[in-house]
Amino acid sequence: MTFNHPIFLTRVFIMLWCVFVSAAALADIPTQVIQGSSVKLEQFQMGYFVDKTEEMPFSEVQNQAFQLSANGVSLGTTSKVTWAKIEIENTNTTPTKVYLHHPYAYHNHKVELYEVVNGALTRERVLDMDRKETQQWMYRGSAVFDISLEPNQHKTLFVKSQSFSHQWFTLNLYSEDQSKRALLGLYTDIALMVGMLLALIIYNFLLFFSSRLREHFFYACYLVAGGFWVALSYGLLADLFDVYGSITLKWHLSLVAMPIFLLLFMINIFETKKKYPIEHWALLSILTLLIVDFVYGLFDMITALNYSSSLAAIMMIVSVSVTISMVIRKHPIAPFFLLGHGLFAIFSTMAVLFYKGKAEFTYINSHGVGIGIMLEALVLSLIIAYRIRSLETMKAAQDELKLLASTDSLTQLFNRRHFNAEAEYLLHQAKQRQQPAAIAMFDIDHFKKINDTNGHSFGDKVIVQVANTLKAQCREQDLLARYGGEEFIIFMPNTQVNDAFILIERMREILEKKAIEMSSEKTVHITISAGIAATDIDKPNLKNSLNQADKALYRAKENGRNQSQVYKI
Ligand code: GH3
Ligand code: MG
Ligand code: MG
Repeated sequence: MTFNHPIFLTRVFIMLWCVFVSAAALADIPTQVIQGSSVKLEQFQMGYFVDKTEEMPFSEVQNQAFQLSANGVSLGTTSKVTWAKIEIENTNTTPTKVYLHHPYAYHNHKVELYEVVNGALTRERVLDMDRKETQQWMYRGSAVFDISLEPNQHKTLFVKSQSFSHQWFTLNLYSEDQSKRALLGLYTDIALMVGMLLALIIYNFLLFFSSRLREHFFYACYLVAGGFWVALSYGLLADLFDVYGSITLKWHLSLVAMPIFLLLFMINIFETKKKYPIEHWALLSILTLLIVDFVYGLFDMITALNYSSSLAAIMMIVSVSVTISMVIRKHPIAPFFLLGHGLFAIFSTMAVLFYKGKAEFTYINSHGVGIGIMLEALVLSLIIAYRIRSLETMKAAQDELKLLASTDSLTQLFNRRHFNAEAEYLLHQAKQRQQPAAIAMFDIDHFKKINDTNGHSFGDKVIVQVANTLKAQCREQDLLARYGGEEFIIFMPNTQVNDAFILIERMREILEKKAIEMSSEKTVHITISAGIAATDIDKPNLKNSLNQADKALYRAKENGRNQSQVYKI
């Protein structure tokens, strides 16, 4: 092997590069200078060390090599016990106090702080989220430690963060006034997010209770799970109710519940069961996996949470693919869904990469799921609005069809079918209220002759005129219908037969006097005959009453027409 052998040179180069990179990573941690009375250190360099054994004593940790990094790190699920090392120096000529903030302490199990001066441990504090007596350093969701510094004193701070599953934290340094400011309004953004989701939740539950459409219920549940997780995971619950530690761990199951409800929403809104069996099968498969993970989480939350990141990734692939397939099939709401779900997928992927320690610690990455939920919720609200509109249009079309099926096209009166159904109902109501009711049947006299002498279309005109006159004379509660060719019928609720007779006679007289114009020179007069029957309040029977009215009508015809007769036994 010679020196100029290319493989040898490459190896030397790689070795040098590795030495250079590790030297850069392990370079000395720069000292943060504490000067003046207002200190606000939110971006600086610190070192971190992952204790894989998870039980290394501080005396040993102190001598480990720390990786140089920014003051915020996300290291995934394999770095449950992580130490941070910060160098600070008070350059003031007076003693100074600074406050070390650990703003995401609420989702840690334990946070410990060790202060070292000239290699000697001077103070140690252990904050255990499950032990009330150690929570004096917990201010709502943040851990806040005061650190005293003598003039020109140099201190090395070691902060141990013990996470439940995903390791991510930031550390900040403040003077007293800046510390108060940093703690004020720390969760305003999250409160806004949750408030918006809450409004949508209430709205969708109301829609569900009024429409009984399951999609609103699933969508509201999805928002409840999402909103709850946002409040929990981004510290709002810790801030408002001082809840943290292992009691909150199980509540992270809401993160698994969220996609379960989203999938149920998709299945409902796309009606996959009926229309798209392959997509339905795909959605059901991932839904089953998520439900299994959820149930598993009830017993072993940490393992369930670890699986949930991968499941979330599979769920996104499946749900986005199904949505794309819906877009291809030209499903009208699919483009909205693709937009909403796409936004959720993008931001959640950023968050998953962040939680796994593979993406930078930025506001967007660390709040990705919340931002995703919010954007998706807004876009999906458009779908809800679209659905409401299309359901309204559908209902109007159905009403129109119903009306068409129940009316007669010539006179626009109800037809016989509608009359029979409606009269049965009115009769039932009359019995319940113990009110009298009457039925009247009409038939135009010698109508064949009118047709024969004036033509069929004039006959039609006569039928329309009679219909309009009867309609104008009917009271609001009366049910009028065209019962046959030139036969009409009226159901009169809450009417004694004598009053019915007066009413029908008035109609007959009006029609008798009415001149129906045939042409500018010729008018025609017509007469009608009517048969009236009372209904039996105790034993109402429509068929009987119709028969009786028909018999009375027959009598009116027999007696010379142009008259009303009441049925008598
Ligand atoms: P009556 O006084 O005994 O009732 O004698 P009528 O000639 O009116 O006898 P009937 O009631 O049996 O006659 C019904 C006629 O009405 C038969 C049919 O030609 C006519 N007709 C039925 N439906 C229509 C329609 O829609 N338009 C027209 N122009 N005529 C109709
Ligand atoms: Mg007739
Ligand atoms: Mg007739």
